[in-house]
Amino acid sequence: MDLGLEGQVALVAASSKGLGRACASAFAREGARVVICARDQAELARAKEDIRGRYGADVLAVGCDLTQADAIRKLVEAAAAEFGNIDILVNNSGGPPPGFFPDMKDEDWQKAFDLTVMSSVRLTREVLPLMKKQRYGRIVNITSISVKQPIDQLLLSNSLRLAVLGWAKTLSNQVAGEGITINNVCPGWTLTGRVEQLLRSQAQTKNISIEEAEQAITGGIPMQRLGSPEEFADLVVFLGSRRAAYMTGTTIPIDGGMTAGYD
Ligand code: NAD
Repeated sequence: MDLGLEGQVALVAASSKGLGRACASAFAREGARVVICARDQAELARAKEDIRGRYGADVLAVGCDLTQADAIRKLVEAAAAEFGNIDILVNNSGGPPPGFFPDMKDEDWQKAFDLTVMSSVRLTREVLPLMKKQRYGRIVNITSISVKQPIDQLLLSNSLRLAVLGWAKTLSNQVAGEGITINNVCPGWTLTGRVEQLLRSQAQTKNISIEEAEQAITGGIPMQRLGSPEEFADLVVFLGSRRAAYMTGTTIPIDGGMTAGYD
């Protein structure tokens, strides 16, 4: 299938590591020019060299704290100045921390809101005028299976990611007539550095091996394994491609069958 991504410009947020980096790599593999961003410049430079080295793609790396409106504005300006336009936007950020309700102060909620909701709202606000001008655009929001089924202790994620869904669905209806699609993807357990770290810490806390910590998770997944960032990225790339022209406003789990529902 020709995805029609050759020469297109994909801005992938929070992409020095993990799911974001896998998505940026996959877009580059399909011939797109990519814009990556994160706070850690050294990590970002390594990601840029890796993607460029492997696929010979044009890669723009911009340092950006996605909780800051100004930094987001500058990121989009830099991307537009380098490549002229943005065809694809992948909204992504670090996940909000776990915790219990009595321990969470207003500042914790506000920080998580800026990271999880406002980073997507602000990025989209900056990118949308460029997409509207060319009457074409693909926006993919990386959320979590927590929007289908709450995950214990992920109170902030369970609460705030639903705001992203409400916003995305409403906006998708408003821009559908202008050739712009907006879809949400919901990763289940996917083996990124973040999850590796979590497995290590669970192994330590419970005094079990890392393999046992992994089995405790995969036992609840019909496919009996974790997902890979590359498998996840292939779904995002499809939704970000010309081929996904008649899909908008959807929320798609990619979780090895873990969600106990009909989605
Ligand atoms: P990760 O920690 O491996 O990568 C997160 C990326 O976000 C990194 O590049 C980091 O530098 C960047 N980042 C974090 N905060 C930032 C900020 N303020 N400004 C700019 N960049 C920032 O995480 P991941 O596993 O790739 O997860 C990505 C998203 O998907 C998170 O929101 C996570 O909660 C969600 N998610 C992941 C999984 C999974 O199993 N991996 C499952 C469900 C949901």
